[in-house]
Amino acid sequence: MKGTVYLIGAGPGDPGLLTLRGKEILEKADVVVYDRLVSPAILGMCNPKAKMVDVGKMPTHHKVKQSEINRLLVQFACEFPGGVIARLKGGDPFVFGRGGEEALELVSAGVEFEVVPGITSAISVPAYAGIPVSHRGIATSFHIITGHEKADGRTCHPERSEAESKDPGQNLSLDFETLAKCPGTLIFLMGVANMDFIARRLMECGKDPKTPLAFIEKGTTPYQRTVMATLETAGETIARENVTAPAITIMGGVVELGQTLAWKKNLPLAGKRLVVTRAAKQASGITARLTALGAEVIETPMIETRDVIPATSSVIPAVILEGQSPDRITGISSADFNALANFDILVFTSTNGVESFFRQLFAAGYDVRVLAGKKIASVGKITEKKLLEYGIRCDYVPEDHTGEGLGRLLASLLVDHSRILLLQGNLADDTLLKLLPQATRWVVYETLPVAELPEWKREAVVGADAVVFASTSAVENFCSVILSYTTLGASPLSGSYALWVGERSSESKDLNRESLTTPASCFPRLAFCIGRMTESAARKHGFETVTSDETTMDSLVKKIVEHYKKES
Ligand code: SAH
Repeated sequence: MKGTVYLIGAGPGDPGLLTLRGKEILEKADVVVYDRLVSPAILGMCNPKAKMVDVGKMPTHHKVKQSEINRLLVQFACEFPGGVIARLKGGDPFVFGRGGEEALELVSAGVEFEVVPGITSAISVPAYAGIPVSHRGIATSFHIITGHEKADGRTCHPERSEAESKDPGQNLSLDFETLAKCPGTLIFLMGVANMDFIARRLMECGKDPKTPLAFIEKGTTPYQRTVMATLETAGETIARENVTAPAITIMGGVVELGQTLAWKKNLPLAGKRLVVTRAAKQASGITARLTALGAEVIETPMIETRDVIPATSSVIPAVILEGQSPDRITGISSADFNALANFDILVFTSTNGVESFFRQLFAAGYDVRVLAGKKIASVGKITEKKLLEYGIRCDYVPEDHTGEGLGRLLASLLVDHSRILLLQGNLADDTLLKLLPQATRWVVYETLPVAELPEWKREAVVGADAVVFASTSAVENFCSVILSYTTLGASPLSGSYALWVGERSSESKDLNRESLTTPASCFPRLAFCIGRMTESAARKHGFETVTSDETTMDSLVKKIVEHYKKES
């Protein structure tokens, strides 16, 4: 049995334009084979355990040939029997996406596949610029055309630069006579490099030189830009305004509606890419706010939590039977869940603790019935709510939602012989243990610094404008992860990042920008910090810093907006 390949359209850039079906598959994918135009935010939605394969095409060269991509898809389908192979492509897979070629290859190799259409840039990018592709009384049809089809029928490379071709456009096999007569809206994909030629040919064939035209660059992303022109000024406008790929060209009367309907506001953080180093769960709030302000956010948590792997199979029973209460139990195995019978009260102090506990419980083949008859305590409302998701109602929650409050509450309620199990992370403080001498702690999860970043994330981080830090440990971890790539020798890096790190001394553990011999512009120099301690840690590592007035995310977001307002 082979795996199934899903040809998924990622949409034009805005991660919100990925379909629900696409997201569902990415979340369970075993392998994700993705293209260059796919947004980092969408890559961030993929199953964190998935093998990520970048077959992205760079402007100047094919990173991976189409025939090689086809071969890879078949290979992964064989390597992952019953698995999910996501082939993630920009826009829609069947609109100039070569999805058809890939599907044919899968059919001939006997690999099952499914197509998940995406929102094509051809329609959505104009929509984000306020240009409807059809409009009553103006355009009754629209035509999507490749600006890069060779005379022999092969598609030229989408983003190949004009400089590469001595005479851009000469190979185009378009029927300019027919196109010039066509009254509908003309939408050219991949055509910027050839647009001067295309515009001239259309005029020679009788199309009105005054036909309005818009170039929309990086549509639907925080970097979106619309440049207006007419057919006769197309070439000079591209050169003057330096219109670069990816861009679409839209021609026809509908373009003028863009003046009135351009709805995408110029948000204060538009065009900024910010790295948020908070743990994934805490990051979503700030990510949503920065994104709403127009920024592209790369979530790069610097810590990760991991369930504690069973150390020995008999830790709990042995300890309990001897009547001891060690302050730490490092593991539990399937059989040990029986040991829960030795406790009257289970205490949770974080949502991580709840999730980790139940994950391990279920994995060991048990269910919530092992908790029958037990009292459950939670430190606060969020943990309480998380427990409710598992069908568990809390018996005890302190009013002040602190460990101390919980300890005092339990101490006041309990009779001496109550046996208490604290289900906590390795970094939990000893407040509860001290207040409740009869309690035993089971470390259900550990918090560890993130040791590596996937390649796509490294590339996204390197190109960012700034990093957001909320703690000194985030600064330290960030710098040490980044530096780990400099000291590895055989670095797994590519492009500018390798350049940036290439010259660093393998001895140095201090991210001192002065000692960098390659351009620091390859890497964000600016850090937005919460709190003075974080600020000084970031400075020590050579960042320029902007620090919030108060130690809240609100205050920091305000500061980020002010910073960029001043800059412009
Ligand atoms: N399958 C894709 C098109 C792939 S061809 C789709 O349905 O959208 C690549 C071309 O798409 C680029 O050269 C550019 O013309 C266009 N394109 C893709 N994303 C774009 C974006 N965000 N903004 C402007 N043009 C884009």
